[in-house]
Amino acid sequence: MRTRLQIAIDGPASAGKSTVAKQIASQLNYIYCDTGAMYRAVTWAALKEKVVLDDDAALAQLLSHLEISFVPQKAGQQVLVNQEDVTQAIRTPTVSKHVSTVAAQISVREALTAKQQRLAVNGGIVMDGRDIGTTVLPNAQVKIFLVASVKERALRRYREDLAKGFKVDLQQLESEIALRDKKDESRAISPLTQAEDAILVDTTSLSINQVVDKIMEIIKKK
Ligand code: C5P
Repeated sequence: MRTRLQIAIDGPASAGKSTVAKQIASQLNYIYCDTGAMYRAVTWAALKEKVVLDDDAALAQLLSHLEISFVPQKAGQQVLVNQEDVTQAIRTPTVSKHVSTVAAQISVREALTAKQQRLAVNGGIVMDGRDIGTTVLPNAQVKIFLVASVKERALRRYREDLAKGFKVDLQQLESEIALRDKKDESRAISPLTQAEDAILVDTTSLSINQVVDKIMEIIKKK
């Protein structure tokens, strides 16, 4: 493949986006960018600074002295906020619970969208999120919309959380995921939605390898 493409992978929580996107980036030797981690990092900082999570002006103020950076690593990326390693801290159930509120605020979306567009300007990137194909990279050459049933996604998150040592309840996870989807789909700015030119991939009954192979086939045709 001669050109270094922009590859957008969107979809609801726990549809398998990050696992799949990392593997595709590694096969193509592209950069991987997890935009959800950016929204999580802002949420983590807002919780720490006790900023009211839907106060757009206060969040804008917080963002003005927040430096979010990614350090590529073998198994993904390290996330730093003002040089502090928050890679694990942004994955707690508390951050997951509040991130959609912060992500709905205009100052947060504008700042992070601009940052994501700068990262992708030279192509050679796999970016996952909710609005990559619709808003961040509307001209991406490859757009995938990954979905899976809420039950399957809750089960995946349950296994992940248990492995990380979090005490979780499957029923509660299922309702939290459904609520997060609803908030992400119904917000006024850049809601979670499939871009018109995105290809839908349902991962409910597919293994990670099957999903990766399917997407690699789509990429090879470009
Ligand atoms: O992908 P992940 O589940 O880590 O994303 C966390 C949250 O960040 C999402 O539920 C959504 O509210 C927000 N998000 C977003 N736009 C993106 C990526 C994530 O609004 N491009």
